[in-house]
Amino acid sequence: MIPMSQRASPTGLRPADPRDGRHACTPPRGTGRVGRAMVALVACTVFAVCTVLAACAGGTAPRPKGVLLLVVDTLRADALSLYGYGRATSPRLDRFAAERGVVFEHARAAAPWTKPSIASIMTGLEPRQHGVMLHHHRLHGQLATLGAAFQAAGYDTAAVQSNMLLASVFGYSNGFSVYLEEHLALHSVSTGEQINADALGWLDGRADPARPWFMWVHHYEPHFDYLHWPGLTFETGYTGRLTGSEPMDQLIAYTEHLGPDEIAFLRGRYDGEVLRQDQLVGDLLDGLAARGELAETLVVFTSDHGEEFLEHGELSHQHKLFDVLLHVPLVIARPGESQPGHRIVEPVSLLDLGRTMLDLAGETKRVFPGHSFAALMQGSGGIDLAPSVAHTATVEGGSETEPRELDMLFMGSHKLVRDLDSGERLLFDLARDPKERRNLAAEQPERTAALERELERFLSLRQRRGGPLAAEHVELTSEQLERLAKIGYGPKRGE
Ligand SMILES: [Zn+2]
Repeated sequence: MIPMSQRASPTGLRPADPRDGRHACTPPRGTGRVGRAMVALVACTVFAVCTVLAACAGGTAPRPKGVLLLVVDTLRADALSLYGYGRATSPRLDRFAAERGVVFEHARAAAPWTKPSIASIMTGLEPRQHGVMLHHHRLHGQLATLGAAFQAAGYDTAAVQSNMLLASVFGYSNGFSVYLEEHLALHSVSTGEQINADALGWLDGRADPARPWFMWVHHYEPHFDYLHWPGLTFETGYTGRLTGSEPMDQLIAYTEHLGPDEIAFLRGRYDGEVLRQDQLVGDLLDGLAARGELAETLVVFTSDHGEEFLEHGELSHQHKLFDVLLHVPLVIARPGESQPGHRIVEPVSLLDLGRTMLDLAGETKRVFPGHSFAALMQGSGGIDLAPSVAHTATVEGGSETEPRELDMLFMGSHKLVRDLDSGERLLFDLARDPKERRNLAAEQPERTAALERELERFLSLRQRRGGPLAAEHVELTSEQLERLAKIGYGPKRGE
């Protein structure tokens, strides 16, 4: 584990009121626009109820013995053959989904980079609610997490992960009895086998194998660096200047000079990593099967965000809200799935994944934020789907105290992205323009305004249920900041 000095900021939080399961809070101290937004609400409620009881119908399935949340970092859905990609990048996942799972065609992350996206999965809260929006933010200790919800339901809980942005010092270990992060690394070496070994080792070592378990396994292979794997390559004989070992901050600074051959080279490396990741996913599932666990386990496979290869002018991720960054794979395999291979076309948000997982595990009455989409797996029509929203904050074009912010709403077939600083609005019709090339905002001002009103309505509804909470801060060392820059999280891109 990487040692980090920690400076928890005052929060003003009072202890939880055990009578109603709510936390009362006074306004947190904040700085800049983010801070001012946080103090706007005087009282906050951390939990929200499952609002549509009918949507919890997925809980009628038998309770699984185990629940596995398998997250692969930086995996865009359209990079998988499971989602129609032309390269055979996911043969083992394809087979698993066909034999045991249900595939969600249109799942979106709540943020285009690791920290806020994972925080939203773990809390069911939109990024401005949980407050984890910048690198030095820490998930607040008073927030209820998915791990804690399973723990309260009697599950053994563990997490195994290797992303330094998810170190326990940032609060992501909240709710997990065991948080294994011995292999925190930038992806200059593979940690996949170690992650699998730790995950299966934890299962083997549990004191009471009869107890149910919940485990979050976080793999890291597709994240930059894009390593070369002999026998798993999709490179096409590129012999140019790039070696593939350049730090991401250098590649970003060099972006405007990258030609099609160089982008194809980088994409080939990434695709090779995706195929390598597919093998590791298959190995972990095989390990569960060998232990007799797989058939009784609820398996949820997804990613925290995608990756851009200049489709919209940039490399890497974090700064925009296009679908190459938000559209992620989602496969859910329940014990005894009656419709294996079924594909669900309704759009869903990972913001609602935790609530859905609890429902699918039979914990329908357990309080947790979100809007369950479990009923979609029962073939139930007409459920009230929540819109998909996303948000990102970046110091690019802003600062740590005044970050630049963008947010997004997707409803029907249209997607609105708004830049809260410049005022720019992007409107795309994804049914006709899935690559988001044509901004319709100027020619469809009424639709743009309607979606913006819907976004505001959604955010205000969520805030009434659980208002914004200030993230705590962790002081990053200069060495850590330098390491982050090498994988594309520099304070100022291009500098
Ligand atoms: Zn990530």
